[in-house]
Amino acid sequence: MTPRNAVTKALTDKTCKEITDLIFGYLNDTLSPSVRRDFKRHLRICSDCVNFLHTYKKAASVTRSIRPEEIPLKVRHNILDFLRGQMRKSGTDS
Ligand SMILES: [Zn+2]
Repeated sequence: MTPRNAVTKALTDKTCKEITDLIFGYLNDTLSPSVRRDFKRHLRICSDCVNFLHTYKKAASVTRSIRPEEIPLKVRHNILDFLRGQMRKSGTDS
């Protein structure tokens, strides 16, 4: 009797912002198994976050050629903020 669409929507709305905060952990394999499972489940239902992950991976492949200690924490957060802005922009345009 539970409408499947409503459940999916709720899950998406609830975790979409959190997903961007988990990407560092996901790519560095530091998420707990249950969080990682939720993360991947969200990616299956949310193309926005899949696109975000692809964009992030591209940025990460560039920054990976730089030694981690050369990237100030502030810059890493700026990258995330930038990507969040891009995601938000493309979200409202489409
Ligand atoms: Zn999402």
